[in-house]
Amino acid sequence: METSLRSLPSVDKIISDPRLKSITDGYDHLLFTKLVRGYIKEIRLFIKGGGDPPPFDSIVETIARRATAIQTPSMRKIINATGVILHTNLGRSSVSRETVEAMTGANNNYVNLEIDINRNQRGSRQDHLRSLLKEITGAESAMVVNNNASAVLLALSALVKGKEVIVSRGQSVEIGGGFRVPEVMRQSGARLIDVGTTNITYKTDYEAAITPSTAALLRVHSSNFRVIGFTGEVALDELVEVGKKHSLMVLDDIGSGCFIDTTKYGLLREPLVQESISSGVSLTFFSGDKLLGGPQAGIIAGKKQLIDKMEKHPLARALRIDKVRLSGLAATLLHYLKGDAVNKIPVWQMISAKPDDLRKRAEKWAASCSSIADIVQGESEVGGGSLPGSTLPTWLVSLKPGVRTHKTGVQDISAVLRNMDIPIIGRIEKDTLLLDPRTVPVEDEPYIISALTQLAENIAGAKLTSRRPK
Ligand SMILES: *Cc1c(COP(=O)(O)O)cnc(C)c1O
Repeated sequence: METSLRSLPSVDKIISDPRLKSITDGYDHLLFTKLVRGYIKEIRLFIKGGGDPPPFDSIVETIARRATAIQTPSMRKIINATGVILHTNLGRSSVSRETVEAMTGANNNYVNLEIDINRNQRGSRQDHLRSLLKEITGAESAMVVNNNASAVLLALSALVKGKEVIVSRGQSVEIGGGFRVPEVMRQSGARLIDVGTTNITYKTDYEAAITPSTAALLRVHSSNFRVIGFTGEVALDELVEVGKKHSLMVLDDIGSGCFIDTTKYGLLREPLVQESISSGVSLTFFSGDKLLGGPQAGIIAGKKQLIDKMEKHPLARALRIDKVRLSGLAATLLHYLKGDAVNKIPVWQMISAKPDDLRKRAEKWAASCSSIADIVQGESEVGGGSLPGSTLPTWLVSLKPGVRTHKTGVQDISAVLRNMDIPIIGRIEKDTLLLDPRTVPVEDEPYIISALTQLAENIAGAKLTSRRPK
């Protein structure tokens, strides 16, 4: 053991190995030394535990691999061929070209984020989007924070803390990613009073729960689930009526930030921002990156007096949005003002894609690997906690492992596509891997086609590899 330990190469010898030169050239010297020392320490422990020292070449290789791996960004582009448009685990969705440009511009420059240039005074970052949001939503005022969960937390903290807020039991739910209505309430210091039953809540249930400590009635859109059968909720305008009668705020968390009627595309109805505002609620809350189709953000629209109060609350500072997303959101909202949202925003381009066009694309993909592919009719989903159980008809490429003798399973095919330079993610149903063109930008089609061509060739030649398609 002693000899093994003594025979270990010195840190300097490793660092000055010519095979590491290209790596050390672009690596901080102290950090690189630390990396090498760390590995030598591991080897020492390994030897003390009775192991044999690795050969010098293998040490150099391991160091090179580790130093390269740590520099490779862990988060990278993937191709979403799942057919789920708003895929939370895949970053929900992309944004319009105009939005990207606006965000790049804000990132590359100083901006008048908190300066009123005309008056040469301090300004508020909230003023940049206020007019646009007022115009589109019809609200008296509006503000933007980090995300919708922050928006609800801020409102309850600033306006309901120490008081009661009444929620229907059927809406006291978990939206996903740990956003649970009762827990957000507790965090804000508001007391949750849930009324009614899981499937039915009446207007009288709300009224019976009102006490002098009640500050608000909250409606939460059941974004990601649907209760069917014997059910009933109180309509928003009725809730607003109860609120008016008892001088209570009515808060409406609609989740998705939808401005366009989804039934036009054969989907179920998603509550519209404009309708929530026009029903007379005090505040409406929604995400920037769900059906709105912009960057991550939480938007609060409604009564000016309440917005003013929230802007002054200390949590507003903690939950604030940065200049980059603020610029991006402005560009996305502008699409709605100009009436070109469906043409320009990826989420809406995907929702409105025509089955005939999707069929042509699926045919083209399948033709590149016809020995293992068919096209089949199927369904795409909006996802991201919107419109559960409501789907869009689509055409899918169905990949079936053809050459059974080589034991190529659907999991193997899925793994090969997932391990490409740009991973391609589909969905497995029964014994097939399905790829939906709806969620794949046309620009990525050449890549997919060469990947599929290579996949089919490899299966035919019975060698599954996962290298970059040529
Ligand atoms: C998605 C959702 C949220 C959380 O929104 P984020 O922007 O992801 O924080 C809150 N409420 C409802 C009803 C939602 O659908």
